[in-house]
Amino acid sequence: MQTDTMITRFAPSPTGPLHLGHAYSALLAHDMAMERGGDFLLRIEDIDQSRARPEWEAQIYQDLKWLGLWWPTPVMRQSERLDAYRDKLRWFWNHGYAFSCSCSRRDVMEAMSAPQEGAEPATGPDGLIYPGTCRASTNKSGTVQMPEDTAIRLMMDAVARKQGSAFTGSDLFSFEETGQGPNSETGRIEFSMQDAIDTIGDIVLARRDMGTSYHLSVVLDDAAQGVTHVVRGEDLFETTKIHVILQRVLKLPTPVYHHHTLIRDDAGKRLAKRDDARAISKYRDEGATPEDIRKMVGL
Ligand code: GLU
Repeated sequence: MQTDTMITRFAPSPTGPLHLGHAYSALLAHDMAMERGGDFLLRIEDIDQSRARPEWEAQIYQDLKWLGLWWPTPVMRQSERLDAYRDKLRWFWNHGYAFSCSCSRRDVMEAMSAPQEGAEPATGPDGLIYPGTCRASTNKSGTVQMPEDTAIRLMMDAVARKQGSAFTGSDLFSFEETGQGPNSETGRIEFSMQDAIDTIGDIVLARRDMGTSYHLSVVLDDAAQGVTHVVRGEDLFETTKIHVILQRVLKLPTPVYHHHTLIRDDAGKRLAKRDDARAISKYRDEGATPEDIRKMVGL
């Protein structure tokens, strides 16, 4: 149930040093909650165990504390919630929303017939729009066990069919955007089921090597933590549509979204984890104060 208290969160992956862009996101989420007497939460998104490192996680706590942020403990760590993700994944499977997929990226590329030579294959917020190769493996009868050794995809048009009278073709998905998307999208953002089928497609609900996906985990975690306002970079604006669809299917509340502009380097390129030059720890070691960091990111 949604309460009146604003709850925001910062959800970094411990796969590298936090840089100025992370500082901006964390400070913004923190300040928004504090201004309204709400709560700011931290969540460690470490489902990709091949890339997550304890030393990066330790550095996250150190950097954020240095910036003057405070959050309740224990902190939610995604690696400790794999059973919860698996349970919901099974729910999608058992209800005929999902199919198992053993395509490699290369298989997907080959199955996509580009309309003309040299044309870029269609991509959406989850990457290449899946051409449907493995769809026949859907658990239509409701009796097939979910395989444990393949990826599991959401069958997007099953969402349209299965939601039945609760969701007809003219219905729209929507969410409230209080920041803005990369093309200045703001306010009530709406998109149709058909848009989702055409421009998002059968997204991966669980990667073979992880048993879950960023989308499934983030949706379940935001709901489990009662997050009311998701503050994050505008690069995730289109991805939010996937999250809204999953919330609808799972009957979870859709938080308010606040996407912010990305901090860029002098050449206008967005910062990446490997941009150690912009790491918060580097600025700190060079004598910068948390106030200096706030000024650098425009807060
Ligand atoms: N873990 C994601 C990242 O580090 C953030 C996802 C989100 O805020 O929803 O980019």
